[in-house]
Amino acid sequence: MADPELIEKVRAMLGRQYGRVYAWDAVNAPMIRQWCEQMGIDNPLYTDPGFARDAGYPDVIAPPGMLQVWCMGGLDNENYAPGSTDENSFETLKIIESYGYPAVVAVNSDLSFVRPVTVGERLYYTSRVDAISDEKTTGLGTGFFFTLVMDYFVEATAGGTDEKVGEQLFRVFKFKPAERSVPAEKPTAKRPLPGVSDDTRFFWEGCEAGQLLIQRCTACQTLRHPPAPVCIECHSFDWDTVQAKGSGQLYSFVVMHYPEVAPFDHPNPIGLIELDEGVRMIAGLVGGEPGKWQIGQRVQVEFQRFDDQQTLPQFRPLGA
Ligand code: ZN
Repeated sequence: MADPELIEKVRAMLGRQYGRVYAWDAVNAPMIRQWCEQMGIDNPLYTDPGFARDAGYPDVIAPPGMLQVWCMGGLDNENYAPGSTDENSFETLKIIESYGYPAVVAVNSDLSFVRPVTVGERLYYTSRVDAISDEKTTGLGTGFFFTLVMDYFVEATAGGTDEKVGEQLFRVFKFKPAERSVPAEKPTAKRPLPGVSDDTRFFWEGCEAGQLLIQRCTACQTLRHPPAPVCIECHSFDWDTVQAKGSGQLYSFVVMHYPEVAPFDHPNPIGLIELDEGVRMIAGLVGGEPGKWQIGQRVQVEFQRFDDQQTLPQFRPLGA
């Protein structure tokens, strides 16, 4: 439970308004051009004055996503343009922190726009505390969601009134981190286990016994792999298994280089093997030289036990 005194202090902050923060520079073409270049945006409304004028604007407009850019304080903290307020619109977070909520994480930020801003216009924003949640517990810890809204205005020229052009909502979570139990050792990644069903269990049990078992329709003798409940040829549900010799040829293959996913070795060659019995199966390839795998190459099955929990068929070049 949060300290009632904190709750009271925090509630008193709700709706608080903070003064203006001015832009260092008027909206200008060089900043727009550099921003578009870095973002990979190619829109002549932002870079071609003639095009912008034909579209009804007095000059190029700034991409809406730049709204926050104009009034930023610069690389140094508190380096705001002359005339800006020296109030701290995040003072609520300092109050919450003093009651034992040291951590902060940005949650979300929404921009909304009233109209585009044009080269030559000068912006400022004011802030208000829009919302403070009750004390909440998340996976990160326990604390408060704090929402600040910045209203952006264009300063009026000679005698007009300032015009709101957009707003930015900025929400953070100010919290005391949840206690975490840290595992003593980093767990070693294990091979993911296959999904086993009544239709596929025989195959994995065969692997455990060092046998490569293929499903066979007892009505028409057609072999099938991967295992399935019904014969694709005659639609019979009746089946048994035969043990494959384990020899075949490489029908196709891929060699996985990246990303390197534990616990697999890399490069990781994976083959589609056409068994001499006629069915194809996917399995790891072992024993070949990297870069030397060849379609049509003869291979032979072998079984390897992983993580003391599963046995998998793998294929090795015949004679290797
Ligand atoms: Zn059949």
